[in-house]
Amino acid sequence: MKHLIILGAPGSGKGTQSKKLEEKYRFKLVSTGDLLRAEVASGSEVGNMCADIMAQGRFPENKIIYQLVEKFLSENAEAKGILYDGFPRTIEQAEFLLDILKQRNETVNTIINVQVDKDALIKRIVGRFSCADCGEIYNQYYKVPKMEGTCDVCSSVSFKTRSDDTEDTVKTRLTIYEEATAPVVDFFINHKLNVVVVDGMRSVDNVFHQIESVL
Ligand SMILES: [Zn+2]
Repeated sequence: MKHLIILGAPGSGKGTQSKKLEEKYRFKLVSTGDLLRAEVASGSEVGNMCADIMAQGRFPENKIIYQLVEKFLSENAEAKGILYDGFPRTIEQAEFLLDILKQRNETVNTIINVQVDKDALIKRIVGRFSCADCGEIYNQYYKVPKMEGTCDVCSSVSFKTRSDDTEDTVKTRLTIYEEATAPVVDFFINHKLNVVVVDGMRSVDNVFHQIESVL
């Protein structure tokens, strides 16, 4: 069984790529958020405990996360591959993952690092707006309507912005991500694992091709 990890900053398009990999290669996608939500929904003892912790705005401790990951691996022992999204987040979690895979005579085959240009990504997120009527997506930096203030597709003149993200909040989010992820990437490199950098600023299809070429 192949084990792949996908890393990418918020806004890198990592989620889209994960979905595509899941669909085309039948990889099982595992994110700790999904595992937790499923456990809570199951109403199990652990699930109820997690619900309490998260209701307090906290995140369940590693011990619980590890239990859920192990359970997931046992339940998906026949899968062709597992794609980890948003896990591991820390060196401790990375060590845990390598340990349990080692017990199965397996390892992390590839770490896909979807890299983004920070300034370009900020423009991509902050500049985004859409047509209020047909939903066509525009960007004040990259793709404005041909006639100012009028939708190319449906000629509507009302637009909406997608989020309240300001340049500062996006910058902060990216900095936090970089600081948290860099040590994990170094950890994998130090363990001589296959860390592959793909250029996340290309089109969705182009990024997918880059990923496919290293699977
Ligand atoms: Zn429109």
